[in-house]
Amino acid sequence: MAENPDVIIIGAGPAGLAAGLYCGRALMKTVVLERLIVGGQIVEAYDVDNYPGFPDGVTGMELVERMKAHTENFDVQVVSGAVKDIVAEGPMKRVSAESGEYVVPIVIIASGADHRRLGVPGEKEFAGKGVSYCATCDGPFFRDKRLVVVGGGDAATTEGVFLTRFASEVKLVHRRQGFRARAVHMQEARENDKIEFILDTIVTEVHGNAKVTGVTLRNVRTGEESRLDCDGVFVFIGHEPNTRYLANLLPECAGDVIPVDYNMETDVKGVYAVGDVRKGSYRQVGTAIGEAITAAMHAEIRIKELTAHS
Ligand code: NAP
Repeated sequence: MAENPDVIIIGAGPAGLAAGLYCGRALMKTVVLERLIVGGQIVEAYDVDNYPGFPDGVTGMELVERMKAHTENFDVQVVSGAVKDIVAEGPMKRVSAESGEYVVPIVIIASGADHRRLGVPGEKEFAGKGVSYCATCDGPFFRDKRLVVVGGGDAATTEGVFLTRFASEVKLVHRRQGFRARAVHMQEARENDKIEFILDTIVTEVHGNAKVTGVTLRNVRTGEESRLDCDGVFVFIGHEPNTRYLANLLPECAGDVIPVDYNMETDVKGVYAVGDVRKGSYRQVGTAIGEAITAAMHAEIRIKELTAHS
């Protein structure tokens, strides 16, 4: 096995890359482990308009490419392979990943979250055949098509507006009258002629042959069911934290968000959680980066304490 690093960072989204940058810059030997693709969820955003320093907006892809290059400037290695398990061994943590085993004093958990699924018949079957979770990736395939967008948050409203660039119509289906989406995003969606709101309604089934042909809707107030023809269904109903691999290290957090203190440190000394996996996260690129920097700076203090005892 190669020499162990000082820090393992799990996840190469904005939080993981920012933590890597600060750890690398502080001359801590740092490896970032990424399960899927570098960048995390923000890669799917077609226009990030609230990250300081980009007054004209920036695509999520460009933003993370710049972040990755910046982090690698500080001799941080970005390695692919999912983490399977972490076990505390005194002050050290043994991280078992597809890329190998690492024994380190510091672990920064920045593994983000996965798309929440509707969990209805047809959703899994037609994933990639009309059911999508990424407007940037799949929107251009739906030129002049009829789309259903599910959700009532910022993602559903902003991505719904984006999809009107391609689609002939977007029916935005939301399970209640009130929206979580911010006023500015609601206004844009309401002012868009191609968007129609269907409220107090859930999707109970996705239908199709080779591809999606429609959905069954149920009005949650009246119980009335109806069929709506469409060519695609975009699901934006939030995310679930990617923390299942923590069953041994933080058993009460596996599959859930992780409580941390103001240094972003968990109940296990030298283990930090930042970004969407952290309990109470605002789930913004800017806040994730701030949390990551806090963790990295505290890790520098903690590493001295922990290695003094090992
Ligand atoms: P979100 O804010 O959690 O909204 C999820 C929406 O899906 C809610 O309207 C929720 O309904 C609905 N929902 C949840 N489970 C459902 C189910 N099983 N069936 C039907 N509907 C369901 O998630 P998000 O929109 O992905 O946003 C996440 C975070 O990213 C937020 O902090 C947001 O501000 C941020 N974000 C920002 C931007 C931007 O600034 N441009 C863009 C996208 C996301 P209820 O309201 O009834 O619970």
